[in-house]
Amino acid sequence: MPDKKVAVVTGAGRGIGRAIAVELAKRGCAVAVNYSRSEGPANEVVEEITAAGGEAFAVKADVSNAEEVKAMFKAVSEKLGPVNVLVCNAGVTRDNLLMRMKDADWDDVIKTDLSSLYYCAKEAVRPMLKGRWGRIVAVSSINGLRGSAGQCNYAAAKAGVIGFVKSLAREVASRGVTVNAIAPGFIETDMTAVLPEDVKSQFIASIPAGRAGTPQDVAGVAAFLVSDDAAYLQGQVIAVDGGVTMQ
Ligand code: NAP
Repeated sequence: MPDKKVAVVTGAGRGIGRAIAVELAKRGCAVAVNYSRSEGPANEVVEEITAAGGEAFAVKADVSNAEEVKAMFKAVSEKLGPVNVLVCNAGVTRDNLLMRMKDADWDDVIKTDLSSLYYCAKEAVRPMLKGRWGRIVAVSSINGLRGSAGQCNYAAAKAGVIGFVKSLAREVASRGVTVNAIAPGFIETDMTAVLPEDVKSQFIASIPAGRAGTPQDVAGVAAFLVSDDAAYLQGQVIAVDGGVTMQ
């Protein structure tokens, strides 16, 4: 285990990413709170962490842009030390039926939800291999596991995330680096708040747990994957969905 765990959490100003950043800080990680638009909320996350005695700083980068990702990792390692924990959480939705989907909607989702994992992992994996310890956690979706109408772009990106995770896990598993994915179900954040009430209640009615998930439900699992207790967990997709995808 390294002397210091340094985590980059993408999209950590709001929603699931915010809960993960705060939880990792509670468990002793120094945390780089990435944001692209939510500067104020990201600064609040940093204040919350530092007020509780943790170490954090906010770092702006559009994770769909390789150059901005490179600059972010440079800034983080200068400020906090070599990165050994990466949580790729940032994501967007641009739902539409295939016939109506614009090429820009496809590209935005693929770049933000999938290419960002490639850009970030490429930067993070070198210091992890050097230190012979690392944790990569990617946030996928149940739509990456089973698809959902009107979300060809999102389902393709999230399925790609799962394939990437398994492939990279095989590449780095012997060097103390674990790579896993979380597939949240219906979690109450800004992303799901925009759904029509009837769609929301229909979905919630289908959840065996009988309720929507919270960002904290996901954060606890992410923190476990980053911990030493999860050292032998490799290339897995953990569905955090109240039982929706149970087999
Ligand atoms: P959210 O509340 O809409 O937040 C999205 C986050 O992604 C924000 O922090 C946003 O940061 C960040 N982001 C978007 N584009 C970015 C970019 N180009 N560069 C950097 N950051 C960017 O979403 P959420 O519900 O917390 O979702 C987080 C992740 O969980 C996503 O990958 C989502 O697909 C996945 N997920 C969510 C659910 C759910 O039910 N909520 C279910 C399955 C999977 P800024 O505001 O700074 O742009």
